[in-house]
Amino acid sequence: MFYTSTRNNEIRVTASQAIVQGISEEGGLFVPCEIPHFDLDKISQMTNMSYIQRAKTVLKEFLTDFTQDELDYCVQGAYASEKFSSEKIAPTVNVKGNKNILELWHGPTCAFKDMALQLLPYLMTVSAKKTADGKTIVILVATSGDTGKAALEGFKNVKDTKILVFYPVDGVSPMQKLQMTTQEGDNVAVCAINGNFDDAQSAVKQIFTNDEIKAELAQKNMMFSSANSINWGRLVPQIVYYFSAYCDLLEQKRIELGDEINVVVPTGNFGNILAGYYAKKMGLPIKTLVCASNSNNVLTDFLKSGKYDKNRKFYTTTSPSMDILISSNLERLLYHMSGCDSSLVNELMNGLAEKGEYEVSVKLIEEIQKTFDAGCCDEQSVNDTIKQNFDENGYLLDTHTAVAVKVYEDYVKQTGDDIVTVIDSTASPYKFSKSVLTAVTGKEQTLDEFDMVDELNAVTGADVPASLKALKNKSVRFNNVCDKENMSEMVFKLLNL
Ligand SMILES: *Cc1c(COP(=O)(O)O)cnc(C)c1O
Repeated sequence: MFYTSTRNNEIRVTASQAIVQGISEEGGLFVPCEIPHFDLDKISQMTNMSYIQRAKTVLKEFLTDFTQDELDYCVQGAYASEKFSSEKIAPTVNVKGNKNILELWHGPTCAFKDMALQLLPYLMTVSAKKTADGKTIVILVATSGDTGKAALEGFKNVKDTKILVFYPVDGVSPMQKLQMTTQEGDNVAVCAINGNFDDAQSAVKQIFTNDEIKAELAQKNMMFSSANSINWGRLVPQIVYYFSAYCDLLEQKRIELGDEINVVVPTGNFGNILAGYYAKKMGLPIKTLVCASNSNNVLTDFLKSGKYDKNRKFYTTTSPSMDILISSNLERLLYHMSGCDSSLVNELMNGLAEKGEYEVSVKLIEEIQKTFDAGCCDEQSVNDTIKQNFDENGYLLDTHTAVAVKVYEDYVKQTGDDIVTVIDSTASPYKFSKSVLTAVTGKEQTLDEFDMVDELNAVTGADVPASLKALKNKSVRFNNVCDKENMSEMVFKLLNL
C-alpha cells in the first residue's frame, strides 16, 4: 500500500517513509491511496482475539512494508499488559441500556494519547531502520499537557531515539506538570518556556526548519522528527480500537454481527474521530459518527453549515485538550470526501491560513453529513452531566468524556436514533480531579492536587490509577526554564552537543 499527500495526489510514499517524514514536503498530510476492506467474516474472526491480535490484524493492512516479525515486535511491545491498567487494554463498558463507554485511558499516562503514543516509537524506529539508515531520531514536542507526557512515556529508553519536551511555564495543570518533571528515562529531557503554548509551538517549528541546526544534527548522525497528531503513525493505531469495541459488543451480546452502531467522540484535533471514519470506510458497521465539542465549537458550526471559521473567541475550558480552533486532521476528511481532490484541499487550506476561514460546496457538506453529526456543550452542562451520570449510573466521567456524553444525550433527544452507541472516554477522571470533584460535590475545591485525588476517591470510590498515585513520591528531575529566544541553545545543551 502507498500513501499520498492531501495537497499533492501525485506523491507516492511507503508507510515507513510517511511515518519518518511526518508531514509531506509541500505541507500536506499523508493519507492511504486505497482503504483495505474487512468483511463481516473477518470481523467475526477478530472477536475471539486479544487486543494485540486485533491490532496486528488491522495494522498489517496499512503497514505493508513491515515484515510480520517487525509488526509483532512493535505491537507486542506497545500494548504489553504491564503498561495498561486493564488487561483488555481498551475495555468497552456498558453504562446503561444502549450507552457504552470505550475506555481509552488505561495506559501509563491515563489519557487516550497513550493508545497511539505507546506504538509510535516502535513504528518510528523500525521505519527509520528502513529509510533513515540508523540515524538517532530526536523528537521535539511542544505541549499544552497530555501529548508531552504521553510522548515521554512512549519514547523513554527507546533505543536510537531522544525526546525533548517544552511546555508553557504557567500553562499546564499541576498534575500534568508533575507528570512531566518527574519523567524517568535515559533519553528524555523536559524544559519549561517563559511564554504560552503558541510561543512554545512556534519556537519548536522554527527549530525544525532551521537548516543550520539540521546540518549540525546530521553531523552527529541525528535527525528531527515529530510525534504530533498529524503523523500517520499516530492515526493508524487509533483505527484498531473501533474494531475492538465492535468485537467487545459482539462478545457481550449487545449486538449481532452486521448490526450498525453509532460512535460519539470528544474532539479537538479531529484525529480520534477520523480514525473512526477510516474504520467505517473499511467496512465496520458504523452508522453515524457524532463529533462532540466544548465551548470551542468551530467543528459543530462547520459540520452543520459547511463553513469553517476560526475567527472567534477562544475559551479556556475544563476540557483543555479540546480547546482548539484549528483541527488539523479535518484536512484528511476533506480530501477523502471530495474524491481525492488535492487542488480543492489546497484552496481551502490557503483560505484557512490567509483568512482563517473557508467554505465547502453544498454537495460536499451534504456528503459529509451522511456520515457525521455534531454538537457542543457549555461548561455548566459538563458539570451537570458528570454529576448526573455519577448519581444515576455510578459511572464517573472526566470532563472531556462528559462533553461527549452530553452531546450524545442531545443527539438522541433530537433524532430519536438510540441504537447501540459507543462513546469514547479519553481521560481518567483523576487527571482532572479538581473539575470532577467540583462537579460531583457542587462545591468549589481548594485542596492541593493529591488531597483532591484522595477526596475524589473517598467521595466516589472510583479506583485511582497507580501511575498517578505514584507521582506523589517521585522526585523532580527537570526544573529547567528558558526564554523562547534561547530554545535552540537549550536543545543543543539537552542533547549534549
Ligand atoms: C487529545 C485529546 C482529545 C482530542 O482528541 P483529537 O484526536 O485531537 O480530536 C480529547 N480528549 C483528551 C483527554 C485528549 O487528550
